[in-house]
Amino acid sequence: MTVVPAELVSEGRRRPVALIPGNARDRYAELLRALEEAYPVRFVGSSAGDVESAAAVIVFPGGRRPDRPRVPTLILAGSGSDARRASFPVELSRCAGLHRALHAQRLEERDHRRPARVTVEPGSQVLAVTEGTPIWVRDDSGGVRCEIASAVPSELREGEFLRDLLTAGRFWSLLPLVHFLEGMSAPSSVRSTPHRACFVIDDPNPRLTTYGYLSFSRLAAEAREHRYHVAIAAIPLDLLVGGRRAVSVFRESPSELSLVVHGNDHVYRELERSRGLVEAERVIRSAATRVSRFEERAGVRVERVMCPPHGRCNAVTLRALSRHGFLALAAAHPFPWDGFSGHRRWRLGGWLPAQLTAGCLPVIPRLPLTSDMDDLVFRAMLGLPLIIYGHHTDFEDGPEPFREVAARVAALGDVEWMPLAAITRGNVVRREQDGMATVTLYARDVRIPRPTAPLVRIEIPRAFEPDIPMHLDVNGSRHDVGFESDGSACVRLPNMSAPDHLRLRIVAPTGAPTAGVRDWRPRLWPIVRGALTEARDRSRPMVDRVRSK
Ligand SMILES: [Zn+2]
Repeated sequence: MTVVPAELVSEGRRRPVALIPGNARDRYAELLRALEEAYPVRFVGSSAGDVESAAAVIVFPGGRRPDRPRVPTLILAGSGSDARRASFPVELSRCAGLHRALHAQRLEERDHRRPARVTVEPGSQVLAVTEGTPIWVRDDSGGVRCEIASAVPSELREGEFLRDLLTAGRFWSLLPLVHFLEGMSAPSSVRSTPHRACFVIDDPNPRLTTYGYLSFSRLAAEAREHRYHVAIAAIPLDLLVGGRRAVSVFRESPSELSLVVHGNDHVYRELERSRGLVEAERVIRSAATRVSRFEERAGVRVERVMCPPHGRCNAVTLRALSRHGFLALAAAHPFPWDGFSGHRRWRLGGWLPAQLTAGCLPVIPRLPLTSDMDDLVFRAMLGLPLIIYGHHTDFEDGPEPFREVAARVAALGDVEWMPLAAITRGNVVRREQDGMATVTLYARDVRIPRPTAPLVRIEIPRAFEPDIPMHLDVNGSRHDVGFESDGSACVRLPNMSAPDHLRLRIVAPTGAPTAGVRDWRPRLWPIVRGALTEARDRSRPMVDRVRSK
């Protein structure tokens, strides 16, 4: 789905959307503000002039629908008479007007009043039903798209992101509205398709050929057969000791297996505990040095994407990761530390292909294997990478859990499985219009095919605590960046004919000190803790065998 951050869209390029009745603008003020940030639209009222000049119309319950729609129109009808919140399935059709990721999906809603039946006029197409009852229809008979859905959005509350209203189990109130806005802004945009996907397994020590329920060679064969990719998130402490047999599996299966970084010592919430930049730098410097030493010794690459132990990483450590050349952090939460309370200012947390955070380090979203996989549908629709993570224990009964998720991903449209570094290197939104190619960066180091338009506009969305000043490096040449007051930035360049790709890097201030032996040398407690954990994990399959006898 097209996501053009509001600050990057000039007011003149926003398409006006009339709301009927006009008081919907007050009732849904926060929701509409977030939607204006997500889409290049401007919500206006319901006066004759507003409706006359609008590019689209949305009618809320209580509003009078236009007799004959002149522009695309969405009519949101009220729910049924039962006021209780209920669970019900939403079954979507294969109608060409629906986003491909929605086709034939059956999604469970758990937090909405049961929707009322909508009337299906002759010639209309049914987009969604619940238990056989039509709840979303589309009619193009007047030459203009007109949709009716019995889905009424809720206003965004304090402490909520927009994504909280479009997520597994809680989506129906917003889905038809968001889908309608996407349909308005899609034609001028090109999002990187196919979907980009990767599994991640946290914790395994790649020193030996097996870890708990995992065998790396069997995993590679399984991934090859079922055409997926698995990144092993290894703990830098574990990489200090050599081990050759498993390494050859990684070297020989780069399309199926890759390595990424999982903390440093893997003590409890270690990337969230640092109290200042000096301490955070020491931890990240240690991780980076241990990883480099392993790469030299083993001859296998460990991608500089950090998967934080226990899912947490504070802003000061994100900045340290940026200074030490990490490409991204992969985490379940866009602001992955306890006590984040800036929802009102960051309503698009979790909505974008990545959240740029401190030092412009992107946080790319990942989803626990144990959660409701309906969320993959919304991620695919929003153009988010599809990253699903688990542990060796998920393989206790064989590889079936990964196979099931891979099949679910395949149903969303074309998909390419790839390492996390490749996902972040392609994490951009591209569009071309009026001789101008626009590239919005959701990554700090990108390599994409060169656009064809004579001008290129490179946009950096606003970041949480960006490092300013910074500059943009375009195929090796430096460009100073002019920042807007909100922290977003853009650079315009004439397009060249060669080379055939664009390498775009956001370069933040460097000067991170180099590592000394005291930085990476292991401390006693992490070694003891690591040895105990590993012994526990490795013995799990044996314990199971003894118990089952
Ligand atoms: Zn872990």
